[in-house]
Amino acid sequence: MSTKTVLLTGASGFIALHTLDQLLKRNYTVIGTVRSQDKADNITVQFKKEYPSAQLTFAIVEDIGASGAFNKVFQDHPEIEGVLHTASPFSFGLNKDFKDAYFTPATEGTKNVLEAIQNYGKNVKNVVVTSSNAAVANADKVGDKTFIHTEETWNPITWDDVDNELKAYIASKKLAEKLAWEFVAEQKPLWKLTTVNPTLVWGPQKFESSLANKTLNTSAEAINKLLSSDPNDTHFFDKPIGTSIDVRDVALLHVLPLENENVSGKRLYPIQDEFNGQRILNIINRNFPELESKIAKGSLDGADKHAEENTIYYDTSKTLEWTGIKSWIPLEETVKDSVRQILDYRSKH
Ligand code: NDP
Repeated sequence: MSTKTVLLTGASGFIALHTLDQLLKRNYTVIGTVRSQDKADNITVQFKKEYPSAQLTFAIVEDIGASGAFNKVFQDHPEIEGVLHTASPFSFGLNKDFKDAYFTPATEGTKNVLEAIQNYGKNVKNVVVTSSNAAVANADKVGDKTFIHTEETWNPITWDDVDNELKAYIASKKLAEKLAWEFVAEQKPLWKLTTVNPTLVWGPQKFESSLANKTLNTSAEAINKLLSSDPNDTHFFDKPIGTSIDVRDVALLHVLPLENENVSGKRLYPIQDEFNGQRILNIINRNFPELESKIAKGSLDGADKHAEENTIYYDTSKTLEWTGIKSWIPLEETVKDSVRQILDYRSKH
């Protein structure tokens, strides 16, 4: 339990709302950054129901990529001891120049936070940056049993490799994280940098009001979409494919570096399991008999083997050891909790 003041950027995001929940549960004083007062008001109302005496305020940062974006927050709040930088664009179909849409907010946003801390954050001891498996996973090693991705692995992608939106996102995340570690190597700050490198993040929304949107945030939408699959579809759902982790584990990983010296300064790499669309459908159909004839069954056999052979091989044991987490929340539980929340919401509205 703590009374330390923590800055959480992008507080309205999917991962950030769960992180905020963890912070308030542990009695941190939190300053969130959001892009509008409406978002600040909405988040405050929802959390005050759960934590009536929550110490929660907001600062408006409309664009993390704008020069000096975080200076005022740190000038106004010299008491900040911990910084969790989660804000970064994670939406596709933006129809914008790749650099403007991904690279600039990811890299300049990270640089702006770190520079503001160096210049004004005299009490900051820990900085946690939400990076990604995008900064770790090597696309050429998918299905290669001899190449094990760990906390030390770096995706070799460069900006020159970018020829589509997904690669623009991936390269931006990798370059933003590189920038953060290089900043630390050059400036030798008094605070410690930790990065959290989650793979695709799933799980229930912190507040079911987020389900009112037509589509969910990019990662959660992958499960939501399967709930609209055609009940007559019997093809093998080989897509989407990848590795995943529960949002509640990811949120915890953001908070632990503030409290545990074994965790701060590390690159944290959480993965619960590998998946393909078929594996997810099998979990949904097994656990929700009420969806019989309402969503696809696909082609039941071979889902686990296909997922294992067509995603990256990985070892997250160091992250488990540093954090003391016994095991990641299992994929089955994540999918069940996500679907249950969506079905409950649909039946109420
Ligand atoms: P969300 O889209 O839910 O949240 C992103 C947050 O960043 C929102 O608060 C958004 O504000 C804010 N943001 C985006 N661009 C800007 C900008 N230019 N200026 C100010 N704020 C901005 O995504 P997630 O919660 O899923 O992702 C959070 C972080 O986790 C990101 O860094 C993402 O790259 C990383 N990540 C996510 C994974 C996932 O599967 N979800 C996997 C690996 C990493 P607003 O809502 O107002 O747009």
